[in-house]
Amino acid sequence: MMQTIKVLFLDRDGTINKDTGSYIATKEQLHLIDRADEAIALARKAGFRIVIITNQAGIARGIATVEQVEEVNRYLNELLLARNAGFDRCYYCPFHPEYPHPDYDRFIDFRKPATGMVEQAINEFFGEGLVVDRAASFFVGDKMLDVECGLRAGLRPVLVRTGHNEEDLCLLRNIVPEYVADDLYKAVTEYILAFS
Ligand SMILES: [Mg+2]
Repeated sequence: MMQTIKVLFLDRDGTINKDTGSYIATKEQLHLIDRADEAIALARKAGFRIVIITNQAGIARGIATVEQVEEVNRYLNELLLARNAGFDRCYYCPFHPEYPHPDYDRFIDFRKPATGMVEQAINEFFGEGLVVDRAASFFVGDKMLDVECGLRAGLRPVLVRTGHNEEDLCLLRNIVPEYVADDLYKAVTEYILAFS
């Protein structure tokens, strides 16, 4: 018996935690954006599964290791779990087009705005008997590539003004989110929970 679920797909850096302007390689560099944990807890309570979709090309560039990225992701989940805001899944893409690497080039279709990570998440849910209702699922991020990834995957894209805040770039390139919010908390409370 298959069950239908809705998912809140979230970018990581600049959406959940502060974007430091560089790749985050250690726990000490990870700081939650104000009320991001509260926002995720509210979405969970409303029935959303939480999936993080993050480009981590620092790996291909030799700035961070796979182990460091996974350790930071574990630490992020610890912080979130303490606030009933843990994530269900987390995918990262190590690939970077300008830094070819034999271990990572196969992830070319996983780097946002490509949808490989989203599709993998949806496939893995399906393997557990869970069908993702894309039309009821959202993708929230701070960059145009997050909006584009959400659109390409048939999800409802929301842009946040934290992190890189690429609102102007989205307008310029006509990559249009459904909603623009000051931060993740407002995205969830003002829009996502109000229209789902
Ligand atoms: Mg980001």
